[in-house]
Amino acid sequence: MTPKIARFLAQQQPATPCMVLDVDRVEDNFRALRDALPLARIYYAVKANPAPQVLERLAGLSSYFDAASIEEVVSCLDAGAAPEMISFGNTIKKVSAIRRAHQAGVTMFAFDSREELQKLVRHAPGSRVYCRILVENEGADWPLSRKFGTTIKDARELMLQAGKLGLDPYGLSFHVGSQQVTTHAYEAAIGKVAMLFTDLTEAGVNLRMMNLGGGFPTRYRDDVPEIDRFGDAIMTAMTRHFGNNLPEMVIEPGRFVVGDAGLVQAEVVLVSRRDRHDPLRWVYLDIGRFGGLAETEGESIKYRITTAHDGSKTGPVAIAGPTCDGADIMYERSNYRLPLALQCGDRVELLSAGAYVTTYASTRFNGFAPLAEYYL
Ligand SMILES: *Cc1c(COP(=O)(O)O)cnc(C)c1O
Repeated sequence: MTPKIARFLAQQQPATPCMVLDVDRVEDNFRALRDALPLARIYYAVKANPAPQVLERLAGLSSYFDAASIEEVVSCLDAGAAPEMISFGNTIKKVSAIRRAHQAGVTMFAFDSREELQKLVRHAPGSRVYCRILVENEGADWPLSRKFGTTIKDARELMLQAGKLGLDPYGLSFHVGSQQVTTHAYEAAIGKVAMLFTDLTEAGVNLRMMNLGGGFPTRYRDDVPEIDRFGDAIMTAMTRHFGNNLPEMVIEPGRFVVGDAGLVQAEVVLVSRRDRHDPLRWVYLDIGRFGGLAETEGESIKYRITTAHDGSKTGPVAIAGPTCDGADIMYERSNYRLPLALQCGDRVELLSAGAYVTTYASTRFNGFAPLAEYYL
C-alpha cells in the first residue's frame, strides 16, 4: 500500500467495497518498464484499467495505447493520445468499429485470420497491419491461448497477401499469456516468431515490427521475477535472432502498469463455520467474483490479503463473495489463512487490485452497486 493510499483510507474511510489507486505508482511502473526495455515502444493495454486518470497520466508520458474496442480508442483520444499512437489490437472487431477507428485516424490494426484481414482490406485500406501468432502460454497464471493467434504457416501466407491487397504488412505479434512468471515464455516465442519474420523478409515483405505483447507480472501473494529480468531475457533473445538488424519493438503491458498501483478495500460480512468443530472458517466479504474479482476464477489470481489483525494467530479459511450464487467463491483450495480474531465488520485489503478489477464488476447482480473507484 502506498503512503498516499494509506492516508486516503485513514482520513476518508470510504464505504466498501472500493478500489483505490495511486496514479503516481502507474507512472513509476511505466518508467521502470521503459528503463528495462528502452528500445521498445510501450502500448498500454487499456482494458487492464481504462480510467481517464490512468490514460491521461500515461498519455502525458508519451505512452502509446493498445485498444480492444472502438470505445477504448475513443477513451485514448479523449485522454489526449494522437490516433497514430493507438493500436487496435483486438483480432475480433466489428466492421463498424474498424470503420470508425480508421476514420478517426487509427492506422495500426491486429488480425489473425483471413476473414479479419478481408475486413481490414475493405474498411481500413492502407493501414499498418500485424498478424498475431499462437504461442505457448505455459507459465502464465491467466493464459489466453487458443482463442487468439494463428499458425506460422497461415501467418506467412496472410502477410504475403496483406501487401498485395493494399495494406501495409507491418509486423508480427504474440502474447505469452497474462501474469506470465517465466522469462522462458518470451524467449521461446521470440525464437518461433523471429524465424517467420526473417523468412518473410527474405520473401520480399517489408516487415518492420515485432510486437511482444503483454504478460509482465505483478506481485500478488507470491513473488515474481523483477521486470529487469524480463527486459534482459527479451533483449538477449532479440539480439540472438536479429543481430544488429533489430526491428521496431512493441510491448503491450496492462497488468504490470496498473496492477500494484491499486487495492480493494472490503468489509467482512460474516465469519462462520459449516460445523462447530470444523477448523475451516468461511469468510464472506462484501466483494466477490461478480463485484470485480473475476480473475479468482479457477483460483488463478491469488490476491494478497491484509487485515488490522496481521501478526496474530491465524487459521485456515475459505473466502467467498456476498451474492446468492454458488460460483461466488474466491478461494477454497489455495490454503489461505487469516487471523482468528477476524470478525464481521472488519475491513480487509486485497493488494495489487489495480488491474482487471474495476471493469470486471457486474453492474447490479443481486442488487449490489458497482465497485466504487478512487484515483489519487
Ligand atoms: C490483454 C492484452 C494485453 C495485456 O496483457 P497483460 O497481461 O495485462 O500485460 C496485451 N495485448 C493484448 C493483445 C491483450 O489482449
